[in-house]
Amino acid sequence: MNGVDLSVLYRGPLESCNYACAYCPFAKKKDSRADLARDRAALERFVAWVGARTNDRVSVLFTPWGEGLVRSWYRDALVALTQMPHVDKAAIQTNLSARLDFARDGVASKLGIWATFHPDWTTRDRFVAQVARLVDLGARVSCGVVAMRENVREIELLREALPRAVYLWVNAAKSEARRSQDVYYTPELVARLSAVDPLFEVNAADHPSAGASCRAGASVVSVDGDGDVRRCHFVREVIGNLYDGSFDAALRERPCPNATCGCHIGYVHLDRLELRATFEGGVLERIPAGWPAAPRAVASRSATRRALPIARVAGQSSRPDVR
Ligand code: SF4
Ligand code: SF4
Repeated sequence: MNGVDLSVLYRGPLESCNYACAYCPFAKKKDSRADLARDRAALERFVAWVGARTNDRVSVLFTPWGEGLVRSWYRDALVALTQMPHVDKAAIQTNLSARLDFARDGVASKLGIWATFHPDWTTRDRFVAQVARLVDLGARVSCGVVAMRENVREIELLREALPRAVYLWVNAAKSEARRSQDVYYTPELVARLSAVDPLFEVNAADHPSAGASCRAGASVVSVDGDGDVRRCHFVREVIGNLYDGSFDAALRERPCPNATCGCHIGYVHLDRLELRATFEGGVLERIPAGWPAAPRAVASRSATRRALPIARVAGQSSRPDVR
């Protein structure tokens, strides 16, 4: 099949990170030289695959378990992908600690940076300076932070320090909320966090998804270092492979088999939530359309507010949304 409009979330074998956030379920491993060589080879193979899909429109988001941008091969991949005429976007989730000179070498307007601020590992000033560098170069940048209760004032100060044109998303600390013996986010905290990110309550929910229609598996897929394709990072079933010829036939709509979907990179594709319209043009790098104007989903927020498990959460758990 050719001529598809496809978004690919790529996660290779890389597992190491130069930070060690306490809330991180990833990056607890030190990659050996052999591990890194394997990650590099897998990434280069993937970029070559994208390069050959010239009849498609392709967008890519790197969602490594560890930190990719500190590795030269991720920077090279972003440069190469943004230079491909059939690639609309090449984005990466990053802690933004790396040198950013590479952004000059690619097509900056097609470069998406999903930058997460980790206040235990960097300073607000340094993070904001890194963001400013990317904005100056013309990259599309969203910033974000995990809303640990003790960091709420820091999150507000980060919002004040960033240019208004840069969206700052706030992820609910769902694992902490589940462990907490009391209400983790009081109404006052919800109001403060929603003032920073009008879509905070959307992230704070675990969205019921069993049997629901979702574009994951049809127009957006998850790919690992071996080229195995899954519909998303949260459904383990392999539906095809990039390199054995089974990929194109695997692309089709399927109902979601999971009870809930709780991470932005998943639920943004859930048709019922209509978030693709909210994030039109910025789905992968997580920038709402028209930002800093109020995102479209906010208008209907009051209708869903009562259903959002933003206090003490019980029941089905999604993986922590730490970036
Ligand atoms: S949350 Fe991100 S920056 Fe922090 S340790 Fe995990 S991968 Fe590294
Ligand atoms: S709703 Fe979430 S878990 Fe279900 S298929 Fe879509 S992205 Fe995957």
